Amino acid sequence: MNDSTLKTRFAPSPTGHIHLGNARTALFNALLARKNAGVFLLRIEDTDRERSQDSLMRDLLDDLRWLGLDWQEGPETGGDHGPYLQSARDEVYRRYYQVLESQDRVYPCFCSPTELALSRKAQLAAGRPPRYPGACAHLSETERALRRERGIQPTLRFRVPTGRDVVFDDLVRGPQRHASDDIGDFIIRRADGSAQFFFTNAVDDALMGVTHVLRGEDHLTNTPRQLLLLEALGLKAPCYGHISLLLGADGSPLSKRHGSRSVRQLREAGYLPDALNNYLARLGHTYAQDAWMDREELAAHFAIDRLNRAPARYDEAQLLHWQSETVARTPVDRLWDWLGEAVRQAVPEQVQGEFLEAVRPNVRFPEDARDWAARLFSDVLPLDEEARALTTAAGAAFFAHALAAYERHGASYKALVDDLKQRSGAKGKALFMPLRAALTGMTHGPELAHILSLVPPALVRQRLQACC
Ligand code: GLU
Repeated sequence: MNDSTLKTRFAPSPTGHIHLGNARTALFNALLARKNAGVFLLRIEDTDRERSQDSLMRDLLDDLRWLGLDWQEGPETGGDHGPYLQSARDEVYRRYYQVLESQDRVYPCFCSPTELALSRKAQLAAGRPPRYPGACAHLSETERALRRERGIQPTLRFRVPTGRDVVFDDLVRGPQRHASDDIGDFIIRRADGSAQFFFTNAVDDALMGVTHVLRGEDHLTNTPRQLLLLEALGLKAPCYGHISLLLGADGSPLSKRHGSRSVRQLREAGYLPDALNNYLARLGHTYAQDAWMDREELAAHFAIDRLNRAPARYDEAQLLHWQSETVARTPVDRLWDWLGEAVRQAVPEQVQGEFLEAVRPNVRFPEDARDWAARLFSDVLPLDEEARALTTAAGAAFFAHALAAYERHGASYKALVDDLKQRSGAKGKALFMPLRAALTGMTHGPELAHILSLVPPALVRQRLQACC
């Protein structure tokens, strides 16, 4: 990596399984790095030891790899800026607390949660935005010692400079300006000694050489704080871009209530990684073309100036669309793996190739293929209501002709259809639909020519006979 290499990162906290919003953030960062021949770094923000679980972290790494979002630096991959788990970086944070302490940029705060809550309430009641009133900002050493003697464990607060405008150019939202006087001194180390997000996140981005951060707009108000911290530490800040939130159809932040599932749940339900990637890459980012793209193409056409400020809405129908598009493009071997052993077992070996070709356009999930395998190859065929009505309307004579035509031509589709047309007088839909209904029990599905050649002859006869 040289000085001009672009480096992005994904910095999840392993407190739950990765959801679509986070997966999109990871994807955007990975695509931006790929597009610029840069580095995509993964850092695990597990400072909240109570909520972070090792098993969740393993699942997270696994889900990211499943999506194809491999990181060039991070846990298990390694790199020059590790450790990549914040829980292993206490030593680093200690060093940087000391830098701030030595410059009087921080102070211990002994205020209790009750005191802070009261002050907050009073400020809100007075119509002011709540911020730390500075009670501990100028305590003398004696006052601090007294409080320590009483056994109070202090937090560490960053002294926000007064009267400053913090300005930065957001990669997505353009120029931003925040008055430092609105911020209030904030905690960078908790009373139990654990490091706080603002601090660890900013310090690590700088130390790990991250140049570009795309993250959710819920972090937009954190950025001025982090810029002030980095400035005080003399560390280089990355460029930040805050992407719009993902919303449900009703306009509230996307959650389980909207049917949104974790990446793991979607994977277990049979979604393919490139379906998610094609879908997520278009949520809050526009591509010039609507066509399905592989990961290289998604990266090649990804552009920061194509990220939108407007919130993106989750739409399951769109996700399903990309799932079908992905199934259509999945190589045969991969498709069999995905469909699973049960489907493979249900399809006679000599027709497996044709089966896939026939049902692929009708399959979105492995269970669809299981259903088709059962329909085409098992002795019992339930007819749905529509199919039953169609076969009844076509009448016994039509199926007697069909059976005779099958005896003469077998699965030679064109010959059979021509013959049946001539003898029954039926044509078009009136010919194809009853045949399809009798042979598959349904009124839609794979092409009839495929059905005729896939269904074993004994079953074709049995099914036509049943309608005579
Ligand atoms: N751990 C933070 C989160 O998951 C990272 C935020 C960021 O991307 O800076 O929200």
